[in-house]
Amino acid sequence: MNDSSRTIAGGRPVPRGACPGVAAPLASGDGLLLRLRHPVGGLTPAQARAVADTARRCGNSALELTSRGNLQLRGVAGDALPAAQARLVAAGVADDDPGREAVRNVLVAPASDLDPQARADVTGLGRAVAGRIAGDPALRGLPAKTGVVIDGGGVAGIPGVYADVRVDPVAVPDGVGYRVAAAGRGADAVILGWARAEDVPGVVAGVLGRLAGIGGATPPRMAAALAERGADAFRGVPGLQTLDADTHGMTTASGPCAPGVGPAGAWVHAVFPFGALDADTLDGLAAIAEGHAGAASASLRLTPWRSVMLAGAGDDALAPLNALGAITAADDPRLGLGACVGAPGCASGSTPTRGDAAAMERMAPTLLAAGERLHVSGCGKGCGAPPTASIMLVAAEGRYAMAVTGSVAGAPDWPPAPAATVRARIAALDAVYARRRQQGESLEQLIHRLGRATVVRAVNEESERG
Ligand code: SF4
Repeated sequence: MNDSSRTIAGGRPVPRGACPGVAAPLASGDGLLLRLRHPVGGLTPAQARAVADTARRCGNSALELTSRGNLQLRGVAGDALPAAQARLVAAGVADDDPGREAVRNVLVAPASDLDPQARADVTGLGRAVAGRIAGDPALRGLPAKTGVVIDGGGVAGIPGVYADVRVDPVAVPDGVGYRVAAAGRGADAVILGWARAEDVPGVVAGVLGRLAGIGGATPPRMAAALAERGADAFRGVPGLQTLDADTHGMTTASGPCAPGVGPAGAWVHAVFPFGALDADTLDGLAAIAEGHAGAASASLRLTPWRSVMLAGAGDDALAPLNALGAITAADDPRLGLGACVGAPGCASGSTPTRGDAAAMERMAPTLLAAGERLHVSGCGKGCGAPPTASIMLVAAEGRYAMAVTGSVAGAPDWPPAPAATVRARIAALDAVYARRRQQGESLEQLIHRLGRATVVRAVNEESERG
């Protein structure tokens, strides 16, 4: 094994930074990692049970929800890989054609068919786009992480998710059309035009085809292609019509959908700390979904918030979900925590990131209650890390560097230190924030008002006093 690739038993090498799948697993510290592509419209309870059974029989039972609405199995042994792949294909949650699976990276708003505030039900459109992309051989050379987002707006809209190509409903003179934009989120993606629903699959494939057609061993991601060639290189695709540059998608959500019971009892939204669950938990979710929504309409919608929405479940589902370890209350401080898998699950990790994050949560009650976020990254790769976090910790050789309102790649405010020292520093930051913030002031605003150096000095003084 070298730095640039990891070779798996029974599969092909998966380069670092690539996007693992079922056909192309990634070797990790606890075995092979198999990532299921986002299931548009959700998993049926039977599919969820099949995944749980596979995780139990072929892996180490650990499962993870990702920030792209995927579900991944951990700890699969090399000699169990063929059986795991066969089971997942038979359950209808993975393609039997690796080429189709590799390019089918489409995230669809998880509940646009249930959300009374959604501007459009995009579930069928999402399936059509995923099928069109997967079936187009010309797209198979795209970079593995090239992603498409189909949003429907409403309280369960996903405007905050980055996409190489995103599709949002917009008002057009005779009803609803679909804005097609590139390399961004709902608010900042570069608008390419709009299309009628029936044209959207072909338009998305056409835009991606132009990206795939850029020369070189591997085509660039869309942001780099736009920077180099401009948006006009992606306009003129058949079916794409001109749209004013200031036309925003009809998405209304400003952040992640709140946990708990959805509007008019349309769903119950269960968030799992760090997106981590296991086979028994997934079985439990399947049982709750069936028990509360009826077998015919039950489904488990996977979201980009590392959570599951149970269609049609109501208040009665809250207690059993809590018993499974799910967060169902909007004021739960664990919602502010994030951490990659770290050690020992990831070979690149040197610290137990999730255990450390859980211990650090207790040091930051004021910050977390105010909606600030704490993220613990096991190394500088920053898997699943947000662009910035109120408290950002990055581990190296068993110690954490810490930044306030910082990024994984940014300069830390404090050099690497053991976890115990960092916990004390977080407690000091929490005390400084509680004492010196003005009403409604965020940590970022406090730093802006007082200056970063002043805040760092105050935290150091508070640490020394404590
Ligand atoms: S960020 Fe975390 S999960 Fe990603 S490689 Fe580093 S330790 Fe592993």
